[in-house]
Amino acid sequence: MKPFIAANWKLHKLPSEMNAWVEDLKTALESVDMERLELALCAPYTHLPALRGALAGSPVKLGAQDVSAHHEGAYTGEIAAPMLKDLGVHYVIVGHSERRAHHHEDDALVRAKVAAVRKAGLVPILCVGETLAERESGEAEAVVLRQLEAALEGVTLEADTLVVAYEPVWAIGTGKTATDNDAQAMCGAVRGKLRDLTPAAGDVRILYGGSMKGANAAGLLAQPDIGGGLIGSASLSATSLAEIAAAC
Ligand code: PEP
Repeated sequence: MKPFIAANWKLHKLPSEMNAWVEDLKTALESVDMERLELALCAPYTHLPALRGALAGSPVKLGAQDVSAHHEGAYTGEIAAPMLKDLGVHYVIVGHSERRAHHHEDDALVRAKVAAVRKAGLVPILCVGETLAERESGEAEAVVLRQLEAALEGVTLEADTLVVAYEPVWAIGTGKTATDNDAQAMCGAVRGKLRDLTPAAGDVRILYGGSMKGANAAGLLAQPDIGGGLIGSASLSATSLAEIAAAC
């Protein structure tokens, strides 16, 4: 499978700043063989309609950063997966550690969101990852596999209907990155757990996320169970994102 790079802008950039970034990306990608990878941009909801136009004709797919667990109804302020699909969105980040930490998302809600995304025919990028305290107490793998199992309970999987992102919380936005070996060990454990759920586990893309940038991407992406990256800070610069794409 092609490596998959997903950019996560988080709560950054005004809609009026978007076009300059898209133009910079198109220029920066001219020297990258886009046949060799898949690239998506997960932007704030407010940016999605205009981004769809700006990215038309480019190989970059559209993604969202969150979604409602509900498909429609009296849920003021929510955005439903079918709405995202109608806007041309392909991917939806679910269970990012920032949502688990700041918006109290628990395993049950993450599971409901994964189901809502898949029901709408979109692909969830399911984030799992341990905190520093959990790593230091030797619980990292147990935590990550529990999150994975809880989010996928009762789910029938084909390889192309799920992306998993292993994101150690202590590496997100901190400039600290898991070593290639530690990242591979965890992604290998994730793959092992997926094998219990689907014969297609070998083809599920497992991303690493946590301060990935041009300088460290090649080592991480060379690991057998790391099929790409979820990129926060480095994606704010189109040039830095293209450097990671080039590392694929
Ligand atoms: C993220 O937000 O998912 C992420 C990996 O952020 P960063 O690249 O800034 O660590």
